[in-house]
Amino acid sequence: MTAEFFDEGDLVAVLTAQPIDRFLDYKAPEGGCHLGAFVEVPLGPRKVLGVVWGKGAGDFDYAKVRSVLRVLDVAPMRDEMREFLTRAADYTLTPMSAMLRLATRAPGLGDAPSMRKVYRLGSADPTRVTEARTKVLEVLRDYGGLSFTLGELAEMAGVGSSVIKGLVKQGSVSEEDAPRDVPYPQLDPDYGGKELSADQAEGAEVLRAALRTDAYGTTLLKGVTGSGKTEVYLEAVAECLRMGRQALVLLPEIALSGEFINRVEARFGFKPAEWHSGVTMTERRRCWKMVGQGAAQLIVGARSALFLPFQNLGLIVVDEEHDTSYKQEDGVLYNARDMAVLRAAINGAQVVLASATPSLESWANVEAGKYTRLTLNSRFGPAVMPTMTAIDMRAEDLPGGKWVSPTLRNAITDRLEKGEQSLIFLNRRGYAPITLCRACGHQIGCDQCDARMVEHRFLKRLMCHQCGETKPMPTVCPHCEAEDKLAPVGPGVERMAEEVTALFPDARVVVLSSDLYGSARAMKAHIEEIARGGADIIIGTQLVAKGHNFPNLTLVGVIDADLGLQGSDLRAAERTFQLMRQVAGRAGRAEVPGAAMLQTFQPEHAVIRAILAGDEEKFWAAEAGERKAAGVPPYGRMAGIILSSPNAEDVFNLGAEMARRDGPLRQIGAQVYGPAPAPIARVRGRHRVRLLVKADKAAPLQKALAAWAAQFRLPTNTRLSIDIDPQSFY
Ligand code: ADP
Ligand code: ZN
Repeated sequence: MTAEFFDEGDLVAVLTAQPIDRFLDYKAPEGGCHLGAFVEVPLGPRKVLGVVWGKGAGDFDYAKVRSVLRVLDVAPMRDEMREFLTRAADYTLTPMSAMLRLATRAPGLGDAPSMRKVYRLGSADPTRVTEARTKVLEVLRDYGGLSFTLGELAEMAGVGSSVIKGLVKQGSVSEEDAPRDVPYPQLDPDYGGKELSADQAEGAEVLRAALRTDAYGTTLLKGVTGSGKTEVYLEAVAECLRMGRQALVLLPEIALSGEFINRVEARFGFKPAEWHSGVTMTERRRCWKMVGQGAAQLIVGARSALFLPFQNLGLIVVDEEHDTSYKQEDGVLYNARDMAVLRAAINGAQVVLASATPSLESWANVEAGKYTRLTLNSRFGPAVMPTMTAIDMRAEDLPGGKWVSPTLRNAITDRLEKGEQSLIFLNRRGYAPITLCRACGHQIGCDQCDARMVEHRFLKRLMCHQCGETKPMPTVCPHCEAEDKLAPVGPGVERMAEEVTALFPDARVVVLSSDLYGSARAMKAHIEEIARGGADIIIGTQLVAKGHNFPNLTLVGVIDADLGLQGSDLRAAERTFQLMRQVAGRAGRAEVPGAAMLQTFQPEHAVIRAILAGDEEKFWAAEAGERKAAGVPPYGRMAGIILSSPNAEDVFNLGAEMARRDGPLRQIGAQVYGPAPAPIARVRGRHRVRLLVKADKAAPLQKALAAWAAQFRLPTNTRLSIDIDPQSFY
């Protein structure tokens, strides 16, 4: 616990979550307060949440300084959390107030704990013994001192609530008021657990030993999908629990399905605490508070779970560490993988980065000796990696407007005859990416963005994938007003479904695409049904590449393996490599071996060849060589600067001025590129201009960027955002 204490009337510096760029002085309240205390302070006419960050600066008239209103009934923020927020803010060039908002994203933290009735075993014997009454008492005895809500107890005993009420009257069951935010059930590190293969057992022991050092360290756990990485890192979680420390498992948001939660329950006896967008506000508050009290041992969450107030964090697992969704792309621009390493370093905790296709960043950190590497070489059980082949589209006989090559068609026919599933992969939502007027050549675009509208036949609308705007499909060209001349160009998954259904009229064809579901639950249910054999041919976007299990799937056909290779993104090759490997990994998980076929017009392309050869080390080494030569991440540093405004002239002028006055950047040897219109030059009506800053790995980039940006006054309505280590370049 933090030792420092402020007596009533002492000046304290308070950080609030309000967009004010400094600490504010207040007087410590009656009874005093600890360093790190969560407090409520007056700000103008309002009361706002804040954290006591240190001694007040004292540069105001003491008599006029207002007092802290009250100290909230939650655990004070620990020193290491304050250090984490400060260093994360410095790294991402984010104001501290925004960091505090991230760290307090639960409602009602200041409210008095709300209460509810709970039931536990009473002292008196019931006057009359019935079967129903006995069942209730048995449940309560089985669970020792645990208390239940009325609903929980009735459900577990399989009786009506009136039975319980009757027992309360007699004193056999006691009814008490208890806070709604209750601790999570105690997990048992030795509850379940599978017998591990030799490979797995060795890996688990390495991770356990690392935990026992009680010090910081990062391990890259690499193994193909299905090699049992999850089993191995759950052993690290178990060791962490045995040591009495808290563990955090981060999953990409989309993978936060019940599947993983059920595995935790099977391994540790109870479900873990959850923190992600699907969790109710009440449950969020409970999670936040219990994590702060050390009454939640394992948290499974999305990236923002990193900002929970852990009391004794011993382990962070980042599953699918290469996943791009770990990078938050609006608000505070941070990469949860990197912030996990920072947080662990401050806490003396271990990090496990798990992936079948690690990011080049992590791969390079292993090469540099900063991370330890653990490799699981084979799939668990009989499953083997699929064979990979290219289909050279230049040699295939295919009419225009069709995308399934004869070679792929034959392979699908073969699977249909054997009663096995095929997956057709195309990373494009909707029916067609372009809607073109055949009379005038006009392409229908979004009114708000420099982007084409994508036809979604299922929704019967056109949609902008940048801003989400939709409009009905027009019948006349908005440009030349020609009637019935609008035609779809290029394939989307919905159009693939049309083609595939025509080719295989007797097969059950389904489309898996995130926009086709009203809720995550509906999507999950559908995926489970398909996995159980509810379809013969699955047509999917990258949704299917992520962690789902299709035991009967033996063929993956990639419609356009070249898709990701275009464009200027420095990670294009890496992304394509990862995505193709992940998708191919869907095939052949059970006893039947799988095959992956990649349709490509450039089978000689280095990336395609690397994917086919399956020689990952060679791919990484080549890719690393190219990045090194170009001085780009992970061997150089980069920052993206986006200026945006409804006024195009304003952003271009400001961009030009920023490029001209680059003194602070030149001082550290950094270069500025641009300004140039961003690849998507207009989003939601705002014009966007981009600059790129490149520097040496060792250069103090953030300091220089801050000094540089501070020179400029932004015109009204103009926004400047700085993205350190940008992941996307749109
Ligand atoms: P990964 O995380 O590498 O994709 P998983 O840990 O999910 O792999 O393992 C793949 C499948 O194999 C899962 O269904 C898992 O339950 C099973 N499995 C892995 N290891 C074992 C084991 N030692 N004993 C039994 N089943 C295992
Ligand atoms: Zn738009």
